Amino acid sequence: MNISIVIPLYNEEESLPELFAWIERVMKENNFSYEVIAVDDGSKDDSWNVIRKWSEINSHIKGIRFQRNYGKSAALQVGFEQAKGAVVITMDADLQDSPDEIPDLYKMITVDGFQLVSGWKKKRYDPFTKTLPTKLFNAVTRWVSDIDNLHDFNCGLKAYENKVVKSIEVYGEMHRYIPVIAKWSGFDKIGEKAVQHQERKYGTTKFGVERFVNGFLDLMSITFVGRYGKRPMHIFGTLGVLSFFFGLLILIYLTITKTIFGAVGIADRPVFYLGILTIIVGTQLFVAGFLGELIARNGADRNHYSIGEKINI
Ligand code: UDP
Ligand code: MG
Repeated sequence: MNISIVIPLYNEEESLPELFAWIERVMKENNFSYEVIAVDDGSKDDSWNVIRKWSEINSHIKGIRFQRNYGKSAALQVGFEQAKGAVVITMDADLQDSPDEIPDLYKMITVDGFQLVSGWKKKRYDPFTKTLPTKLFNAVTRWVSDIDNLHDFNCGLKAYENKVVKSIEVYGEMHRYIPVIAKWSGFDKIGEKAVQHQERKYGTTKFGVERFVNGFLDLMSITFVGRYGKRPMHIFGTLGVLSFFFGLLILIYLTITKTIFGAVGIADRPVFYLGILTIIVGTQLFVAGFLGELIARNGADRNHYSIGEKINI
């Protein structure tokens, strides 16, 4: 199969018929073999019935329904697990992303050799209150992740080589950082394509301001887990040792000035408290590192490495 199109959706009954018809047209025009995996993230409207109805007409359309709303990341994750196509496309259900972009995205993966291509809503049709924070968000993410060629991390329209979606795991609000997660899994051929963006035609946006706080915390987790998840001692231990020896130096200095040069009252000198403090903090960090190692060692996926290729296995 050429393409799996994964569509997370929550209360999008008005948009779905147009979207399904549009996808079908594009797939037919380009002779793609495909599947559409519509993941209903616990919609309270008629979305699931729309999916059911359309899957009867068009057998390429498949549906998965959550019992309740788990969020976009969860919906993507479940869709990824099912996807059989060589190229996996994700897109939003609200018609803001255009299926006409799919053939070019497909080519960028299969011909140009990208492992992940992210859409870039170069001209965005969203309110100002959304576009401005997004600029900031993208700048921070670029800086933290070292992926400097992406303008728009959170675009819903993306294309992946199949093995990329099989080896990443998204939950919480992590769908905003899939390129970062992919990079940490070793997929660094990441590209970008400027895409058409439409105003939301039906329904309303499903995300509020809390997205920025949660999103930022998730970015910190992803970076930490990606970098040190399998070796926590390296970060905590390093910081701990530095802190400990800094404190030790201060105390040695104070001891020398007292015993050799006869200075008075070690405890009267402010720097004494800094010395004590950094020694204690250093020890704590060290202990945190050990605890982290113990936990990492017990983790079920401690020896889970993302494997690029195999021969004769
Ligand atoms: N969505 C979802 N679960 C949620 C919230 C959103 O599956 O809990 C879907 C939503 O139906 C849409 C996509 O995620 O297909 C993007 O959501 P939205 O268009 O509201 O986000 P925005 O474009 O405003 O960033
Ligand atoms: Mg939208």
